[in-house]
Order: sequence, then C-alpha cells, then structure tokens
Amino acid sequence: MPTYDYDLFVIGAGSGGVRASRLAAMSGARVAVAEEHRVGGTCVIRGCVPKKFMVYASEFSNQVKTARGFGWTVPEPTFDWPTFRQAMEIEVARLSGIYVTNLQKAGAELIHKRAVLKDAHTVEIVGEDRTVTAGKILIATGGRVTVPDLPGIEHAITSNEAFHLDKLPESILVVGGGYIAVEFAGIFAGLGSQVTLLYRGPNILRGFDDDVRAHLAGELERRGIKVVLGCEHSSLEKTDAGIVSTLNNGMTFTTEQVMFATGREPYVEGLGLENAGVALNERGAVKVDAYSKTNVDSIWAVGDVTDRMNLTPVAIREGAAFAETEFRDHPTTFDHDTIATAVFSQPPIGTVGLGEGEARKAFGQIDVYRAVFRPMKVTFYGGEERTLMKLLVRADTQQVVGVHIVGPDAPEMIQMAAIAVKMGVTKQQWDSTCAVHPTAAEELVTMREKYLPADLGAVG
Ligand code: FAD
Ligand code: NDP
Repeated sequence: MPTYDYDLFVIGAGSGGVRASRLAAMSGARVAVAEEHRVGGTCVIRGCVPKKFMVYASEFSNQVKTARGFGWTVPEPTFDWPTFRQAMEIEVARLSGIYVTNLQKAGAELIHKRAVLKDAHTVEIVGEDRTVTAGKILIATGGRVTVPDLPGIEHAITSNEAFHLDKLPESILVVGGGYIAVEFAGIFAGLGSQVTLLYRGPNILRGFDDDVRAHLAGELERRGIKVVLGCEHSSLEKTDAGIVSTLNNGMTFTTEQVMFATGREPYVEGLGLENAGVALNERGAVKVDAYSKTNVDSIWAVGDVTDRMNLTPVAIREGAAFAETEFRDHPTTFDHDTIATAVFSQPPIGTVGLGEGEARKAFGQIDVYRAVFRPMKVTFYGGEERTLMKLLVRADTQQVVGVHIVGPDAPEMIQMAAIAVKMGVTKQQWDSTCAVHPTAAEELVTMREKYLPADLGAVG
C-alpha cells in the first residue's frame, strides 16, 4: 500500500465539503480541506443565509401595513441599508467562524488556499509551491454565477454583489425567472426599491407547477413588482440617468441597478480535472455514480459541482453519504427522489413531489385538490393577498404525489408535508389527519372536493 499525506483531501469548504470532512475526520481519518475563499461556501457566505437575512429585513414593510390593520399606530418606517448590511456581515462572519471551529474540533486540517488536481492522488496547494497526496480526493467546489455575453453586461450585478451594495437602489431591473430572480425581486421591493422582473419565457419559475407559477406572478404584481415576460436583453448602457437596458423587442428600461440572475454552472474551471482524467457530463458537471464516485477510482464529487439538485441540504447529504461509505464502513447512497424545496419569494413557495403536468405525464389520471383563499390574518385588515394550496393524487392508487403551497409559512409547512409524501401517504391517510385550528395549514387536510378547472376563480 502506498503511503499518502492524508487519507482524504477535500477541495472546497462549502456545505458538502465541510460535512464530508467532519464526518471522515471524526472517524479517525487524516483529513485536509482546502478553501480558496471563505469557509462555509455559497450557502453561508453569498447564498441561503445572507439571502434569508435580506428576506427577513424586507418583510417588515409589509408587516407594518398589517400591524396598522390590527390597530397599531406605526409612523412611516425608514430602512437604513448600511446598518443592516453591517449586521448581516457580522452574522455571516460569526457563522463562518463556527464552520471553522467545527472542522478543527473534528480534527480536519484547514488549508486556506486554492487547490488544483495534479493526478489521481496529488493536489497542488496554489501559492504555497507544494503538493500533497491523499488516498482519496473529494471535489466539492460548488457552482458559480453565469451571465449571458451581452454588450454592457459589465454594468450589471449578480447575487454575489447584491449583498455588498454601497446603497440600496431606488430602482432595479432583475433579470431571470428562477429562484434567485424571484427571491431578490421580493427582497428589493420589500426594502423599498422600484422593481421590474424581466423573464424571457411565458411565465416565471419554469419547472414548477403551472398554478404555482401563475399564482406567484399575480401576487408579485399585487405587491408592486412589474413582471415583464417574453423578452430579453440586447444590450446595457451606462448613462447619467442610470443603466439603460435595451430589449430584443425594442423596449427600454432605465434603472439604477440591473441584476442578472440567469443561472449558475458547476465550478470546474482550472481545477486540473484533465490531469487526473476526471470526466464531465453533457452539462459540464463532474460525472458521478450513486455513491458520488467519479470515473477515477480515488476521486469523488458532491454538491453543486455535480449538478444533481443544487440545494444546500442535498450537498450536505451527498457529502455525508460519501463519508459514511468510504470512512465509516456503512455504504450509503442519498435518494434524490421527492426532495422538498422552498422559494423565499414574497409570498414564499413550498413544494414537494410532482407538478400537475409532470404528474399527468407520469401517472395518467390525477385527482387535483386545490384551494385559493385569503388567510384570516389578511381578511382581518382587508388585505387582498391570497394563498394557494394544491394537492395532486394518483387516481389509481390514491397516493399523494405532489403538494404545492404559495403563501405565508409555506416553507415551514412543506417540510412537514414532505415526510408524509416521501413515505407514500395516500389521500385517505392524509385526510384522516385531524386539522390544527385556527391555522392556514389546516386547509391542507380539509380539501375534500376534487378541483375541476371550471372552478377557477370561484374561491377567495
Ligand atoms: P459551495 O457551498 O459553493 O462550496 C464550494 C466551496 O469550494 C466554495 O467555498 C469555494 O470557494 C470553494 N472552492 C471552489 N474551488 C476551489 C478550489 N479549487 N480550491 C479551494 N476551494 C475551492 N440552497 C438552499 O437549499 N436553500 C436556499 O435558500 C438557497 N439559497 C441560495 C441563494 C443564492 C443567492 C445562491 C447563489 C444559492 C442558494 N442556494 C440555496 C444553493 C446553495 O447555496 C448551494 O446548493 C450549496 O451551497 C452547494 O454547496 P456545495 O458544497 O456544493 O458548494
Ligand atoms: P435558475 O436555474 O433557477 O434560474 C435561472 C433563470 O435564468 C431561468 O429563469 C432561466 O430561464 C434564466 N436564464 C438563463 N439564461 C438566460 C439568458 N441567457 N437570458 C435570460 N434569462 C436566462 O438559477 P438561479 O440563478 O435562480 O439559481 C441557481 C440555483 O441555485 C437554483 O436552481 C437552485 O438550485 C439554487 N437556489 C436555491 C434557492 C432555494 O432553495 N430557495 C434559492 C436560490 C438558488 P429559463 O427558465 O428559460 O431557462
């Protein structure tokens, strides 16, 4: 047996890499993890965590309106972006520090440098003029932002910069119709910016249930976000009046900021994959099997760099399954089926299982249960926001195959619903669950009438 410097070398201290490093190190393995930026990765430094802080900050403007409806006298509030941004930076730094401490406590060695593969067992520590060897190597380098190649694209920001702006823009054009675009449209609108959301397709959130897409688009407009569909940029130009966006239909928009949220790609550039012979798939992601193993015997990959489902809990579970298999004598795969997800738009979305179109394609006949209503908190103050809840049930087996919620607390509700759906719950079992009253969630277990499209608009 050749001897190596480490049993495991992990490239990338983000969600997947940190979990794998800690578990492997706690099993007694000699583990090193390289990080070229800040420990915690996308989620902690420029993703889920600071994004959620921004969502929280932006929700207060709506809560002030609600409070007034409940009898509170609230003077017109003002928001101080620098104060919030500083608090957010302090909290992110604290959380990143906890990740460092946890790695150290587990016994993993942290190398604050970029690492590049030299061969199947060797990694170069960039800037230190040294190489190290490892019996096993885990690639956990995540993903990075992509923007289209357009004249003037350098004037636009992405989610990376959105957390560090010097000032809150008075107006912003958010480009894209995916998770990040709808989340940041809501954030900026809630904080007080004039927001236009521009998406090239017929409706936002391609891949989600069509009712969810339509409902959210309507609710965004209700909150003052202008949703422009079916067109895209030809160019951007910086002028004294702001950034002028010219679209392919000739329309122009002048806004203080333009943010592109047009997707992310696996971060493999310059990683030396070719030196070790690691293969990519057709989407440019590291190709792996169910155990996250690449085509090279000593190299594995987890998280966004494998482009399976680009979510933090998925990266964590893939990293954990790798460590269980390779260092804890417990062969484990992570099941990517029926993973719940939330979009922290305003109102937020919670979804698990299939959308209606997908469910019909997969199973033929589907029973649809659907409710659109104004929650009691909203009706009290005369608000107009509506919640959507939708249940999709296989007609033949009565198994619940999709649950979709758009409305306050949808992400919290869907986490619980996901347990039942993952277990294969039937509609009869679902209905046998007694309601919790008074809640919005009770609507989910009290939907008895099958929905027919003619009912559209009859509720609420
Ligand atoms: P990452 O967390 O990206 O970690 C990779 C790490 O590797 C990085 O720290 C990087 O610096 C480092 N690295 C890369 N190359 C090298 C190298 N050669 N040498 C050394 N270090 C290297 N997911 C959710 O589940 N919920 C959310 O609400 C959510 N919100 C998001 C909001 C935004 C704005 C974004 C961008 C993403 C969001 N995500 C969310 C997705 C989530 O952040 C990712 O799926 C998750 O972070 C992926 O983890 P990872 O370990 O694969 O990669
Ligand atoms: P998404 O893939 O979700 O959305 C990208 C959007 O950009 C799509 O609407 C896409 O349109 C559009 N687009 C792509 N290329 C262009 C182009 N050239 N011109 C105009 N529009 C374009 O990516 P995001 O960047 O929003 O997020 C990346 C991933 O991060 C998500 O998929 C998700 O996995 C994760 N994430 C998760 C969150 C959560 O869990 N809450 C929050 C944020 C991110 P089209 O649909 O037509 O292709």
